[in-house]
Amino acid sequence: MLLDHAETVGDPLCGGFLSWRTLQQLQALGVDPFQLGGHRITHLRLFSAGRTATTSLPQVACGLSRHALDSALRAAALDAGAQMAFDHITAVEQGVARGKKHDWRSETLFLASGKHDLRGAARPRRTADPALGLRLRLAPTRQRAEMLGDHIELHLFAGGYVGMVLQEDGTANLCLALRKSALTRAGGSPHNLLAELAARDPAMAARLGDDWAQARIETIGAVPYGWIAEETADGLYRIGDQAAVIPSLAGEGIGIALASGQQAASYWLELGPAGAARFQRAFAQKARRPVQVARVARGLAESPLGGLLAIFATERIPATIHALARMSRIETAPTAIPATNSH
Ligand SMILES: Cc1cc2nc3c(=O)[nH]c(=O)nc-3n(C[C@H](O)[C@H](O)[C@H](O)COP(=O)(O)OP(=O)(O)OC[C@H]3O[C@@H](n4cnc5c(N)ncnc54)[C@H](O)[C@@H]3O)c2cc1C
Repeated sequence: MLLDHAETVGDPLCGGFLSWRTLQQLQALGVDPFQLGGHRITHLRLFSAGRTATTSLPQVACGLSRHALDSALRAAALDAGAQMAFDHITAVEQGVARGKKHDWRSETLFLASGKHDLRGAARPRRTADPALGLRLRLAPTRQRAEMLGDHIELHLFAGGYVGMVLQEDGTANLCLALRKSALTRAGGSPHNLLAELAARDPAMAARLGDDWAQARIETIGAVPYGWIAEETADGLYRIGDQAAVIPSLAGEGIGIALASGQQAASYWLELGPAGAARFQRAFAQKARRPVQVARVARGLAESPLGGLLAIFATERIPATIHALARMSRIETAPTAIPATNSH
């Protein structure tokens, strides 16, 4: 039983870039992002302090909207026999997800509410300078298509970055992940921040064009980047962002969501509700390396010196960027369940 509060598939802010590892996972599930019109992405272009550098990605990646991806995944789940119901879940307790319409009872719950925390399973969010996400969808234009082409672009600035990639309908997905302090410095206004970035950098100004101010800006607050669930309650499998939140710079959050879902399913098939704690520990171990590598990359990218270092490495020693890109991918094969485990 798949429960979601949204009857119609929206276009969530987070996503838009599918790594090569995520593509392989999706294709193995029978969902081919390229058949959905996904845009081939073969290169990374970095911008920092007026400098730019380009390198190839280790393998082909894809630009696809979350609307297209989530619609296809929902259809695949229904085709595979899942049932779907709609309710806004407010809390989880042992054996029950409390919704606004019903209490949904089951000896096993898979918690996959992404950024949204539920009562009874909330993640700690203690940080002096929380991470925010902003997104604009920019209309298709010939200039943007030519500038972005088959590149994922990361424009680094003090306290955050702007990511840009073309989507299946020719729109450009422009996503900012930044510290609250960086927004505060721009007077707390996303419009001011983008206008300042455009004033400082002609490349950003060219990509924003003269129509960006009409685009709707969506925001998400207090993203707990770096958080990993080490333990869980009986019968509660935490998956996706509820299992591990990788800094978005890595473009691997959807890969982690898919890998955790598959691993949770294999543990549940073998061990039932009692397997939740073992699953959570095993997945935490698997997620640790990619999440830590992405944290280091994020820390570097947010500082002006780190930004210059990233440009230098991309130009002169691209093997380091390729290594970072590989090390921030999630291992997809479900971890073997120790032979001593039983129901
Ligand atoms: C700014 C930003 C940019 C990102 N860009 C990328 C990227 O380009 N590529 C990438 O791979 N990752 C990216 N990520 C990370 C990625 O979006 C997440 O890791 C991924 O979406 C997690 O998937 P999920 O299934 O756990 O949660 P979600 O994708 O958030 O899905 C949660 C689902 O739960 C439902 N739901 C939520 N609350 C409730 C409730 N109370 N009751 C019922 N239903 C509920 C929602 O409707 C939704 O369907 C980005 C993250 C951020 C913050």
